[in-house]
Amino acid sequence: MEMDVKCVSCGENGAEILISGKLLCPRCSRQEILHRVRKNLGKAGVNLRGSQVILAYPKFYSEISQFLKYLIEKVCQNCNFMISEVIVENGREINSVIRNLILEIERRPESLVILPFTADFYGAYLVYSSSSLENSYLSLYGLKSEVAHKTLVSPLYDTPITELRGFQELTGELKTGDEVFDTILEWLHSSFGDNEVFHTFPPSILAILGKFSRCRRCGAVIRPDSGEYCKACSTELSLER
Ligand SMILES: [Zn+2]
Ligand SMILES: [Zn+2]
Repeated sequence: MEMDVKCVSCGENGAEILISGKLLCPRCSRQEILHRVRKNLGKAGVNLRGSQVILAYPKFYSEISQFLKYLIEKVCQNCNFMISEVIVENGREINSVIRNLILEIERRPESLVILPFTADFYGAYLVYSSSSLENSYLSLYGLKSEVAHKTLVSPLYDTPITELRGFQELTGELKTGDEVFDTILEWLHSSFGDNEVFHTFPPSILAILGKFSRCRRCGAVIRPDSGEYCKACSTELSLER
């Protein structure tokens, strides 16, 4: 660690964490992240005061999720809100893990859902899904999305895990269990150490997604002419009948 590099925010020595192109000391980096989470919750129109919120995540996101819970509680101290958790098992296919998560969320009465997904996760998922947008959950990409009458908010959608290094309790590991996905994620991390790529993923993804519809049940991306449900939901629903 270089101890003589000055933090661009406070001017103290010991800057070592690159956040949005600024080299910060661990203390300032923590404040920056907290500030970002507060700003994102505001941008998403989330009012925590007195609310009931679900924190929903697959097991491989446990560590980040607990950390995000701590940040949210810090953002809104004395706000008297309830966070309950929905956790699903890991699996070998990221899409079925996300789908299980959405279906679990759907069964819950709460309408506001917090997701822990980070910018590197979304970036890897974008690459992962690029050859088959259909039946993917790119519909979740970004700060806020609506699925099955729930509002889903990802306060860390523009923060890659590598920008959380100022919080030493985090190990910074993300292993989904989907080999292809994990390989892409590793490649992104090793190739783009300056984090900038995670902030520049194109808003054009929203324009592309605008050409598609959403599955009425699980929110998966579907072609506008392919009916109301994605493949998996159509199959399940026809079996139930
Ligand atoms: Zn500083
Ligand atoms: Zn579906």
